[in-house]
Amino acid sequence: MHRRYKNGSKFNLLWVIEMVGIEKSIPKRDMKKADIEYREKIARDGAFIQKVRDALTPLTKDVTVIENGQVKEVQVTRLGLGPIDTPFGKFYEFEFEVGDRWKEYNVLVKAGLDDKFNPQFEDGKILVRMDSACKTGQLFHDKTCDCKLQLLKAMHEIEKNGSGMIVHMPKQDGRGMGLSFKLGTLMLQDELGYNTVEAAAALKSMEFIEPEALDPRTYGGVIAILRFFGIDSGFDINVATNNPKKIQAFQENGYDVGRTPVIIPPNEYTKRHLDAKEETFHHDLRRDND
Ligand SMILES: [Zn+2]
Repeated sequence: MHRRYKNGSKFNLLWVIEMVGIEKSIPKRDMKKADIEYREKIARDGAFIQKVRDALTPLTKDVTVIENGQVKEVQVTRLGLGPIDTPFGKFYEFEFEVGDRWKEYNVLVKAGLDDKFNPQFEDGKILVRMDSACKTGQLFHDKTCDCKLQLLKAMHEIEKNGSGMIVHMPKQDGRGMGLSFKLGTLMLQDELGYNTVEAAAALKSMEFIEPEALDPRTYGGVIAILRFFGIDSGFDINVATNNPKKIQAFQENGYDVGRTPVIIPPNEYTKRHLDAKEETFHHDLRRDND
């Protein structure tokens, strides 16, 4: 039963049996422990998976908002949510459908979540940004506007604040006139050297520039989402904007909000558009583009 090996050790069957026995006995204990831990993990995972499944079932609430002086019942539906890891830390992205003309809403939230995935703004301090979307600038890096930088700046400000949310409205691209219209204005800017306001007015065949006609955006849907989350006037809300219309949307709904300016220094491409917008839309600050 003995065989000498190269390194001088003996092959001993008893020793092997003993070793195998030991080998078996240790994993057995571990297996039992591991088994319990594994079962517990499976149960925990299962509960969480079920919660995420539940969150994929649309959740609808009807809320009342005031929009440009009119009382409206708005249906808000949460379609889903998940975390994103950004250069400005972790946000939860929520997908919403709102029963207004803008319909699609994407909301980035920096806050904890409760058991039902509802944001919990612990100290009640919320920095809110309404982002009207700009596919050409934010997605494709077009240099003629600073929408991308404004979005990144807002995310940075929210990170500094510790909590907040960005309500992104894809259908409000082109100051609410839509992506196709906006692409048309870019054509006039590129070919004829018009600024953004002149280009929009020219496409609409307007003899006089009417600010309301060139910016049909409304913000009742944003207020509706705040109400969906249970954010009432008791919260300490700051709005990251230079656009007085966005502040008014909060005020007419009873929110006493502060304002955090979002200032992006103009560049050679954006300066004349920003000047034109300041003149036409009376934004509070130069260099504003929101
Ligand atoms: Zn833009």
